[in-house]
Amino acid sequence: MELPPRVRFAPSPTGHLHLGNVRTALFNWLHARSHGGTFVLRIEDTDAERSTQESVDSVLEDLRWLGLLWDEGPEVGGGFGPYRQTERFGIYREHLDRLLAQDQAYPCFCTPEELDAQRAEAEARKVAFVYPGTCRRLSAHRREELAAEGRKPVVRLRVQPRTVTFRDLVRGPVSIHTRAFGDWILTRPDGSPTYNFAVVVDDALMGITHVVRGEDHLSNTPKQIVLYEALGLAAPQFAHRSMILGTDGSKLSKRHGD
Ligand code: GLU
Repeated sequence: MELPPRVRFAPSPTGHLHLGNVRTALFNWLHARSHGGTFVLRIEDTDAERSTQESVDSVLEDLRWLGLLWDEGPEVGGGFGPYRQTERFGIYREHLDRLLAQDQAYPCFCTPEELDAQRAEAEARKVAFVYPGTCRRLSAHRREELAAEGRKPVVRLRVQPRTVTFRDLVRGPVSIHTRAFGDWILTRPDGSPTYNFAVVVDDALMGITHVVRGEDHLSNTPKQIVLYEALGLAAPQFAHRSMILGTDGSKLSKRHGD
């Protein structure tokens, strides 16, 4: 027998909810309610510069006003918390250490200036910039030297060249070659996790069965799938729905009002 679904709404508290966010929340809530499942609210506040408590408060207030009440999450608790990513840094660290110990991830000492120069060069050649793997095979000694220069590394996932295929519940089969993104960044120089890293750890540990979100995240999904595999965790099912566009045909954003 299939277990009842666990779905989540995972807003980044960097402003008010807009209609697109509300639609995503509604789809998830409906899925949980119609299948006797659980609707989880998770606050994705790892972007310290843009996240505010005011925005968290307004998200909770708006969801309550809409009647989209969550079964687990901030203020109500639950067995899979904490439900704010900034309170889960120890959990991300453990997973990162495991990947580093297994050599599935590695520190990259390239500076933003070096990467910008490579990006500009790629743009001039009209090709998409993908990190070329410069720090993939540094010796322990070379790593120490670079750290001694005061360089603070990011940590990258070691991604093998291959095609990632998954079945999206809305769009059907999707195939993307990993060369489209390469060795992507798990943690920033200050040790904080990127969105793609934190979201995988959280969706897995929170037992999320279905990830329902906007199609603007479709290109993130293959990155997330290779991380599930590296961590030996089962990936949820994915459903990417189309976006609501503004009257000017562009993606809905704060510009269009909430
Ligand atoms: N915090 C992300 C956002 O607001 C969540 C994306 C997702 O659902 O995985 O876009």
